[in-house]
Amino acid sequence: MPYVKYLKCSKCGSKYHLSERPVMCSRKDLGRLDILYDYESISMALSKEDLFKRKFYVWRYFEFMPVSSEGSIVSLNEGGTPLIKAKRLAEALGLRNLYLKDETRNPTGSFKDRCMSVSVSMAIELGFEKAVIASSGNAAASLAAYGARAGLEVVAFVPHFTPLGKLAQLSLYGARVIRVKWVSSEDPTVLMMRTLAEEYGYYPSPSFGPFNPYQLEGSKTIAFEVAEQMNWGIPSQIFIPTGSASLLTGIYRGFRDLNRVGWINGYPMLVAVQSTGNAPFIRAWIEKQDPMNIRPWEKPPATIATGLEDTFPWDGDAGLRALYETNGYGLAVPDELIANAVKLLASYEGILAEPSGAAGLAGLMKAVEERIVDRDESIVVLVTGHGLKDPEFLLKIFPEPPLINPNIEEALAILKNYRCS
Ligand SMILES: *Cc1c(COP(=O)(O)O)cnc(C)c1O
Ligand SMILES: [Zn+2]
Repeated sequence: MPYVKYLKCSKCGSKYHLSERPVMCSRKDLGRLDILYDYESISMALSKEDLFKRKFYVWRYFEFMPVSSEGSIVSLNEGGTPLIKAKRLAEALGLRNLYLKDETRNPTGSFKDRCMSVSVSMAIELGFEKAVIASSGNAAASLAAYGARAGLEVVAFVPHFTPLGKLAQLSLYGARVIRVKWVSSEDPTVLMMRTLAEEYGYYPSPSFGPFNPYQLEGSKTIAFEVAEQMNWGIPSQIFIPTGSASLLTGIYRGFRDLNRVGWINGYPMLVAVQSTGNAPFIRAWIEKQDPMNIRPWEKPPATIATGLEDTFPWDGDAGLRALYETNGYGLAVPDELIANAVKLLASYEGILAEPSGAAGLAGLMKAVEERIVDRDESIVVLVTGHGLKDPEFLLKIFPEPPLINPNIEEALAILKNYRCS
C-alpha cells in the first residue's frame, strides 16, 4: 500500500484518489495534482536506520513514493549518485565546503532518470501502453530508455533546435521522435503532447507537474540522498539549474518530507539558476510576480543551456513558494559564465557537464562574486546533465591541439608555453 492520502489540484482544489488513476486534472485547468502523504504512517513503517540495509538508489525511499507494488518498479539503477567534496574548485572560488551532487552518472546521463523511473512505474501500475512527451531532449531520452525497459511505446515531440547528440540517443532507445518547428514564444511540443494525451489515450510523461504528477516524486530523492550523505544534516545553500522549476520543486518537497517525518529540522536555502537568454522564472522572482500568474518569456529561448529552455515554468508557482519557504533566491547568469562553469568543472574536478548541467555552478560563481555566499558555508551544487549529451557544444569550445612531427624537441618546445583552456 502506498502512503498516499490523495492528490489535490493546485488550481481548482479537486481531490483524486489513486484508484481513480489520476494523471491530469479532469477539469482541464492544467493544475498540478499535488500528492499528499500520510507521514504518520510512513514514520511508523520506516526509520532512518532501516535505510542502511537497502540499496542506494531511488527506490531506497519506496515509502515516500506513489507506487503501490514493488513489482511495478521499472528501474535502470537510477540515483544513488555521489556527493563529491570539491577541493580544487572550492579553492579557486575561495570557499571551504563545496560539494557536487554528480547527477551525470545516471543511466541516461541526467537526473531526469529519477523522474522517469517513477513516472514509468506509475504508467505500468495504471495500465497504460503508450506514453507521450514534450522535451528538449533529456527527459525524452530518459522516458525512451525506461519505455524500452518496460515495453511502453514512446512518442517524443522535441523542438527543432534539440542538439544532435540528444536526438541520436533518443532515437536509439526506440522512441518515435518528431521534431517540431518552434516559431512563436509558446512551446509547440507541449501543444502536440497535450492533444495526444487528452484525445488519444496516451500517458503524458513530461518532466513537469501539470501534465504528470508522479515524476516530481523522483526529484525528491536528490534531497533524501543529500541529507543522508550529510549524515542527516542540511547544507546551507543548494544551487539548482532551473527550466520548468520542477526539479527545484521536487528538491523542496524532498526536504519537506524529511521534516514531516522528523528526520531533519529545517531547510537549506534553495537557489534557482537560469540563463539570461531565457529567464522567465528568475524574472518572476525578481519582479515578485503572482505565483499563479507568471509571465512567459516573450521570445523563443536563446541559450546554450538547451535543457533549461522552457519559456513558461510549468511548476513555477510551486518553485517560487519553494524559494520563499527556504529563504532562497534566484539568479540569472549569462551563457559565457555557463561555458566557463563547464570548463572549470571538467578541469578542476574531472566532471564533464553539458551547459544546463553546469548552470548551477555558474550561479554559485555569480553568488560568490556578489558576496551572497560566505566562505565557510556548506554549499551543494547540482550537476544535472552529462557533457557528452551535447557534443556540438563541446566541439565549439574545445581548443584544437597543436600538431607536431614525431620529434620530442618540438613537443618540449610547445609544452613550455602550453596553456590549458
Ligand atoms: C531538465 C533539466 C534541468 C531543469 O529541470 P526543470 O525541472 O526543468 O527545472 C536542469 N538540468 C538538466 C541537465 C536538465 O535536463
Ligand atoms: Zn483542477
